[in-house]
Amino acid sequence: MRNVIIVGAGCAGNTAAVYAARANLKPLVVAGHHPGGQLSLTTLVENFPGFPEGIDGPVLVDSIREQAERFGAEYVMGSVLEAKLTERPFRLNIEGEWVESRSVIIASGASARWLGVPGESELVGHGVSSCATCDGFFFRGKKIMVVGGGDSAMEEANFLTRFGSEVALVHRRDQFRASKIMLDRAHANPKIKWLTGTVVDELRDVAQGRVTHAVLRDVKSGKQWQQEVDGFFVAIGHDPNTKPFRGQIDLDAEGYILSHGGARTNIPGVFHAGDVQDRVYRQAITAAGAGCMAAIEAERFLEAEEH
Ligand code: NAP
Repeated sequence: MRNVIIVGAGCAGNTAAVYAARANLKPLVVAGHHPGGQLSLTTLVENFPGFPEGIDGPVLVDSIREQAERFGAEYVMGSVLEAKLTERPFRLNIEGEWVESRSVIIASGASARWLGVPGESELVGHGVSSCATCDGFFFRGKKIMVVGGGDSAMEEANFLTRFGSEVALVHRRDQFRASKIMLDRAHANPKIKWLTGTVVDELRDVAQGRVTHAVLRDVKSGKQWQQEVDGFFVAIGHDPNTKPFRGQIDLDAEGYILSHGGARTNIPGVFHAGDVQDRVYRQAITAAGAGCMAAIEAERFLEAEEH
């Protein structure tokens, strides 16, 4: 029987592990198959407080893990396949093995959707990004492209005009999913160039190890062309990783955990931390803060039950 199982080993899960371990709760962290969360997909992080020269995303998230392990957190690779959270003790199926716990912190994150075109995965962190706040700064005076037609794409395109010499917004349709206010704001921004009815077929240049061009195609005519670009931002939505908890934890229409205040879910003893609940800020520092909150709440919950 565990005191606390933390699902996820990104910034939120690892920070929750530091706090839970220092509270002597000997947390078990289920790290997934690709630990590190969104930070493991970035390169330099310049906005995490305390690192004036910046720090590599993977180094940052690994350091938090190391810190948690120093205080006794235990990590296991693999995923939660199934969860039984409606009865106590809570039970999680980790890669086929059922483990019981008195409390659970869900910090399983949200995965950015990608286009899946050739060159994209190879160039993530080398010109391809899913986070304008994180990476916009690296493209000062450079050519930027944003893909998507929702609020995220509008927000990112607007934000990126602060940095880029130009920002091309590529959207596969002529209609936008974005709210009117966000769309109007983007339309009023003279630095945004609109490429609607356009899809991306490929990103180049993998051989050079950085983004140099996007191969675009007009959906109606089928005409293909190549456009120079330095920073390529994919803003086509995120998918929260809440599948094993569906039907037990209150989720919103898109699968994000609905908070019941602080780090609480609808089930006492089950807490949330990071992007699995946060569709607004999605920053390493906010995820770390949320991990801290969840661990403190778990500690108080267990204390109230005298464990
Ligand atoms: P979204 O509303 O689901 O929009 C995703 C966009 O990406 C759509 O335009 C979609 O095109 C496009 N897309 C999806 N898959 C694609 C693919 N494979 N290739 C090319 N394009 C693709 O996602 P979101 O913009 O991230 O917003 C998610 C939620 O957060 C929304 O409820 C939004 O209002 C909210 N949000 C709010 C704010 C704010 O208020 N400040 C900021 C960001 C997000 P189609 O339209 O053709 O399907």
